[in-house]
Amino acid sequence: MSILTLLGIKKCTHERMSFNVDCGYCPDCGEYVENRWYLVRCSCCGVKRIAITRGNEILPKEHFCKNCGETTYYIEELKRLNIIDINYATVLRISPKPLKQNFAQAWVQETPEQKLLCGV
Ligand SMILES: [Zn+2]
Ligand SMILES: [Zn+2]
Repeated sequence: MSILTLLGIKKCTHERMSFNVDCGYCPDCGEYVENRWYLVRCSCCGVKRIAITRGNEILPKEHFCKNCGETTYYIEELKRLNIIDINYATVLRISPKPLKQNFAQAWVQETPEQKLLCGV
């Protein structure tokens, strides 16, 4: 952990947090972090587009779909990362707060179904 992080000046981005786990504690700051994987798909033809993150935003890397030229897209949250999606998906490291008391409850409320913003 850097001294800046320790002093709260620089916010930890948890970048050393492992990709291989669903959740865990950041090795740098000790915060509880969830890895959430997202795919970006073309809203016209539904092909996967390479996703990137900017801050906490998920965006497609290219400005338009390489398959059909459409610029609109939707974001799909993955339950877990499939190996076939690894070149397309991006991860957001989220530290849910408040954590200690709400964790068990939040876990139960999670639905098994993937929520798609737009049906394909
Ligand atoms: Zn951290
Ligand atoms: Zn398309």
